[in-house]
Amino acid sequence: MIYFDNSATTPISAEVLEAMLPYLKEEYGNPSSKYYTLAENARKAVEDARKNVADLINGQPSEVIFTSGASESNNLVIKGIADFYSDKGNHIITSCVEHKSVLETCKYLETKGYEVTFLQVNKFGQVEPETLKNAIKDKTILVSIMWGNNEIGTINDIDSLARVCHEKEIFFHSDATQVLGKVEVDLKKVPVNFLSFSAHKFHGPKGVGGCFIRKHKLGFKTKITPLIHGGKQENDYRSGTLAVHDIVGMGKAAELAKINLRQTREDLICAEKDMKKELEANIEHIIFNGHPTIKIPGIINVTIPGINNELLIRKLASEGIAISTGSACSANEPSYVLSSIGLDINTIRSSIRISLSVCSKENIITLIRKLKEVQQKISI
Ligand code: PMP
Repeated sequence: MIYFDNSATTPISAEVLEAMLPYLKEEYGNPSSKYYTLAENARKAVEDARKNVADLINGQPSEVIFTSGASESNNLVIKGIADFYSDKGNHIITSCVEHKSVLETCKYLETKGYEVTFLQVNKFGQVEPETLKNAIKDKTILVSIMWGNNEIGTINDIDSLARVCHEKEIFFHSDATQVLGKVEVDLKKVPVNFLSFSAHKFHGPKGVGGCFIRKHKLGFKTKITPLIHGGKQENDYRSGTLAVHDIVGMGKAAELAKINLRQTREDLICAEKDMKKELEANIEHIIFNGHPTIKIPGIINVTIPGINNELLIRKLASEGIAISTGSACSANEPSYVLSSIGLDINTIRSSIRISLSVCSKENIITLIRKLKEVQQKISI
């Protein structure tokens, strides 16, 4: 299998798996239990992982909580703020190119009486800080804008967007799921209040993720209504027995992502350059979507005029090559992200996403060769 769908998920790294295994075997303690060694070992493993995750985003360990993934983190922040601060206001701002776990949560809140503004983006898929400024109302309680887009890779100017909110003392949340491990995220510099992420996007296990919840400037806990009530684990933000093996895996993946960040970035930029060069040289009239430079390295979204994207990815799959039409979470509908940046329905149906890991040039050449063959067979 030649795998070019790394935005959907990444393979778990060998070191991550190795680190997890003891916690699926002999180290089975519950970290919330007390005093005996198994419990203490589990607690220490969770806290070490928390430190590694915090280090990756330059936050405090006490500001990181573990969840089942970015979908849950997005739900937790948006519903949690909406509920807890409903006496302050009922207006939420997001953008129309967010992941479904943000958009659908906001739409659900609309049915509960909240007002949501879905901001338009520019032709690259970015929210302009001025557009955000103009949308803020007295009753705005939360702004949620993604760091980098999962379909086209475009990166937002999160620092400027967060500062717009910071100045007005409005909570700012960012879904950073696609950027961790590929883009520097330094929460000492960028004033976001909340950040969502998932381990499986940076070579960790699936079903575990995190949420950064910045403390109040005086050091108090930022209050939000939990999504899951119960035994008050995770500082009462998220009840439920911690999935120690998954958390350990996420911690290891975060540690590796931090150590390797610069190299990963360089390698992805290089692989992307090679891929784009080959695509341009071999596929006539190809169009690259999204921002050409302000982007997550390795996410390439292209339109190949005259092809049906579903047919193309199916044929490539039968040849052992994995690419996608866009988000795996909305795989059955034409892309609303591409529509938001102005592409018409026919263009959208001719667009594909190729998302790289640090891959060999050989794989790129094979993909291009197969792409050309299939394109010739199915072109209209
Ligand atoms: N946000 C973004 C930008 C994503 O790409 C994804 C995963 N496709 C998610 C949120 C949801 O992550 P998970 O499925 O791990 O909860």
